[in-house]
Amino acid sequence: MTSKDFIEMEDKYGAHNYHPLPVVLSKGEGVYLWDVEGKKYFDFLSAYYAVNQGHCHPKIINTLTEQAKTLTLTSRAFYNDALGPYEKYITDYFGYDKVLPMNSGAEADETAIKLCRRWAYDKKGLPENQAKIIVCEGNFHGRTITIISMSTDPDSYKGFGPYTPGFEVIPYNDLVALEKALEDPNVAGFLVEPIQGEAGVFVPDEGYLKKAYDLCKSKNVLFIADEVQTGIARTGKLLACDHENVRPDILILGKALSGGVLPVSAVLADDDIMLVIKPGEHGSTFGGNPVACKVAVSALEVVKEENLAERAEKLGELFRSELLKINSEMIELVRGKGLLNAIVIKPKNGKEAWDVCLKMKENGLLAKPTHQHVIRFAPPLVITEEQIYEAIAIIKKTLEEV
Ligand code: PLP
Repeated sequence: MTSKDFIEMEDKYGAHNYHPLPVVLSKGEGVYLWDVEGKKYFDFLSAYYAVNQGHCHPKIINTLTEQAKTLTLTSRAFYNDALGPYEKYITDYFGYDKVLPMNSGAEADETAIKLCRRWAYDKKGLPENQAKIIVCEGNFHGRTITIISMSTDPDSYKGFGPYTPGFEVIPYNDLVALEKALEDPNVAGFLVEPIQGEAGVFVPDEGYLKKAYDLCKSKNVLFIADEVQTGIARTGKLLACDHENVRPDILILGKALSGGVLPVSAVLADDDIMLVIKPGEHGSTFGGNPVACKVAVSALEVVKEENLAERAEKLGELFRSELLKINSEMIELVRGKGLLNAIVIKPKNGKEAWDVCLKMKENGLLAKPTHQHVIRFAPPLVITEEQIYEAIAIIKKTLEEV
C-alpha cells in the first residue's frame, strides 16, 4: 500500500477529528522518522512533545519488551512489583511525597482538579460545591468535558455544552488579574501552564510564575502546574517551573514520562494534599500498570543519563539564534524556551503556515501549524548540534521557496 492508500483508509474509516499533514509514517529512530515510501524526515513535533528521549529509544524499548513479556496489567485490585518502585523513583526524582498514576494528560489534569477541590473542602474548609479554580485564557489542558469547560478556544468547546462550572478564566501572564481573582474566598486553586504550548508557545514574563505562586500562597490557594507539555527537560530544565524555582503544590506530568512509548501520566503532591483522596474515590484500570511503571522509570533515567535538560537549554538557544538569522519576510516572530519553540508566520502571496509545513515536509522536516499562523519547532531532545544546523538549512531553504 502507498501513502495515498493509507490516507484514504483513515479518511474513510476514522473519525475526522484531526487534520494531519499528508505524510504516512512507518518507522522512527532518534530524531528521524521514515514514511512508507522510505523517505527520511527530521521530526520537529516529537509527537506533541512526548518523544523527548527520541523515537524508539533502545533502553526504553528494551524495558517495554521485557516487561510486556512478564506482566502487563493486574489492575489496582492487587499490588504489583513494579508500582511501588516506580512510585518511590518518581517521587524522589521530582521531590514530592506521593504520586497518583494515570494514563493521558487530560486524565491527570482531571485528577488534579478533583484533588484540588477535595483539598479545598477537607482542608481549607470551603462550603460544599463552591470551590473555584482559576485558569488562564488560551489554556490547553486536554479534551474532556470538564477541561473544555475552561477552554477559551471555540474549536475546543463550541457545541459540546453544557459545561462544568467552577472555573474562572483570567488573562495569562497577568498578575493584577490573578490578584483580583484571588480575592474570592472560594478560590481553591490556580491551574496554569508554565508556558502555554498549544496556544502557540507563549512564554510569560520572567518572574510571572514565582509571583503567581507567592500570590496563591498568600491566599492559601494551591498552585497547580500543568507540565504535561513543558515538563521532562523540554524547556531546558527538568520542569519549566524550575526556571523560577517554583515548586508547584500539585504537579501534572504526561507525554514524555513514557518517552512516547505508551500513555503514562502522573499527578504529584505532598501528603497533606494527596491523602485527601481515599480508597475508591479515584482511579483508572490502566493507571500504574507494570509496563507503564517500568517504562516511566527508564524514560526518566534516560533524561538524566543523557543530560537532556542541559542539551535542550543549549541547543534551544542555538536553534533560536540561527532561526533569527534567517532573512525571510514570512518570519514575524521567534519565541520559545529550550527546545520548545515557535515561529509566527506572516502570510505572503496567499501562502500560510500550512503551506510552509507542506514544503518543509517535501524538504525533509516535519512540523505542524497551530492556530493558523504559528509553527512549533520541538525536535526530540537527543538532537545534535550538527542536526540543528541541517534542520535550520531546511527551514531556510523552505522559506525561500515558499
Ligand atoms: N496539558 C497540556 C499542557 C497539554 O499540552 C496536553 C496535550 O497537548 C494535555 C494536557 C492533554 O494531554 P493528552 O493529550 O495526553 O490527554
